[in-house]
Order: sequence, then structure tokens, then C-alpha cells
Amino acid sequence: MKKITGIHHVTAFAGDPIANLRFYVDVLGQRLVKRTVNFDDPTTYHLYYADRLGSPGSTITFFPHPQARPAQAGHGEVSRTIYNIPVGTTGAWAARLDRLGVKYVRDEDWNAPTIKLMDHDGMRLALREGETRVRTEAWDATDMAASEQIRGFDGIEITLRSRDATMKTLVDVMGFGVVDDGDEHRVRLAVEHDEPGGRVELVIDPTLSRPRWGAGGVHHVAFRVADDEALEAMRDRVASAGLGVTDVIDRNYFHSIYFREPGGTLFEIATDGPGFCVDESEAELGTSLRLPSQYEPMRAEIERGLIGISREMLLPRR
Ligand code: ZN
Repeated sequence: MKKITGIHHVTAFAGDPIANLRFYVDVLGQRLVKRTVNFDDPTTYHLYYADRLGSPGSTITFFPHPQARPAQAGHGEVSRTIYNIPVGTTGAWAARLDRLGVKYVRDEDWNAPTIKLMDHDGMRLALREGETRVRTEAWDATDMAASEQIRGFDGIEITLRSRDATMKTLVDVMGFGVVDDGDEHRVRLAVEHDEPGGRVELVIDPTLSRPRWGAGGVHHVAFRVADDEALEAMRDRVASAGLGVTDVIDRNYFHSIYFREPGGTLFEIATDGPGFCVDESEAELGTSLRLPSQYEPMRAEIERGLIGISREMLLPRR
């Protein structure tokens, strides 16, 4: 399968790491599956939240800076990250958000009941009902029934000033199909099947200015491929299209390439494996700071500079 199979992960900036942890664990019922540092700046955490195993298609990751200023929305960025929730669970989710004091709007989107909300930093999220083929594992440490838990991503929304060049990249280079040609303001695309896991919606607004990166803003979206062979094939396709693309980079938990689509959004393509159990057991995921080998000699200094996260903090507050 030398093709993209869906969304792999979304990576964003956050403010306070503990507030970030509390939102994704307590509100969304996700597990902190990896605690590491930004490989390009080891003074900053890189926190990964996902299902119980960190299955591809379920992971959202953050670079939290306690002093980060808020992001400003603009064009050429992921403007909403949409999770899949099981059919019939919108009411339960709305009741949960009411109980936890999280504001939201109920909507009907992509012909499915949808809840739109923001995290503590103002990052735009949604929970959308649907049957999904994304394989995730329920986490029994949460206070939510397995039948109501998030099942990976539904898709993402990208905001652009114009649609054609981005659409061409998604279709001709990345293998997406157009689900709904919409109009000059909106296009819906999906990979393989029009179902949760691989949906991309383009929202067009020519009046937008450039975004300002900050807490609540998305840095990049990563799309999934099965293995290294598929990653190399996609790299050739991206390079042949004249888009500047990085070499394959080893991110420890997956292998990646990065390129900027013509509309300005940073795209990554990442392999499903080797996954988050390469450097700690399934039971231990997220419980200690994992460092790539080049930073191990600096561990004491790195740990001193980071806000501590205890094992108790990994569990939801009831
Ligand atoms: Zn990434």
C-alpha cells in the first residue's frame, strides 16, 4: 500500500503544559502516551496524547511553552482538528462538557452530529459522530465508557486564501479524492473512502492574513503511510511535483518527511511504525521522560528545566 491512508497526527503549540495535560486527559479522556522533548529544542516538552496505545490516527502532540502568547488565526494552517466519536454519543459528550464547564456548540457537519469546542489555549477542535475504520484501543483508566471514547481523528480543516494549488497537491500528489466540490469557499476531500480518519476540508477566505504561531495554533498535520517503502514512494511524488521536501527523518516513534503545501500549511507524512512502545512498555507509556540518544548525556539538566509531571497527574481527575 504505497499511499496515504489517513491522518497520522496533529502537532500544535500550547501554553502551560499542566493545563494542556489536564484538558486532554480529563476532558477528552486521552492518555499521555509519550513524554519527550522537542528534538530541535530539548528545553521544551513534546507531549503526545492518544488512545491507550498511541495508535496511528489518534495522536495529538504539543510543544507547550508556559509563557507562549496566544496564536492568531490566518491562512495556510490547520484551523480545526476533528475527532471521531461513536454514533449516538453526542448527547453524552455534551453532558460531559457541561459537567466539566467546557463551552461548546452543537452543529451538523459533514452530515453528522458535531460538537465544536476549543481547548484551554483556544485551539479549535470538534467531536464528530461516525463509523470509523481507524483502529484504536479504549483506555480503561478514564471515567468514560469505552463505547463513548474518542476513536482517533475524523479529519482536519485547513484555511486558505485560494483553493486550487492546495487541492491539486492533495489530489494529484497525495491521492485524495474530492467528496464535495462545494464552491469558492469550501471543498471537501477524503483519502480512500469518505469516512472518518482521512477527511480534509478546505475553507477559503481571501481576506485572511498570515497566522501568528502561538499557544492554540497548529504547527503541522501528519498523514499516514504504512511503511518506509510507502514513505519513499510519497517522497518521490512530492519531489517530482516540485515541492521542497526534507529527507526521511527518524522521529524514533515513526519516520517522517515534511513539506509545505502551496497554500502554506506544513505537511508531514509519517510511517505507522515502529510506534510508541519502542522505548517503554505499554503499561509504562508516558510515565517518564524519554530522550533520544543524543540528549541522554544532558538528562539531568533537561529535567531540571522542565515542569515536573508525576504519575498521579497522568490519571484523570474525577
Ligand atoms: Zn509531526
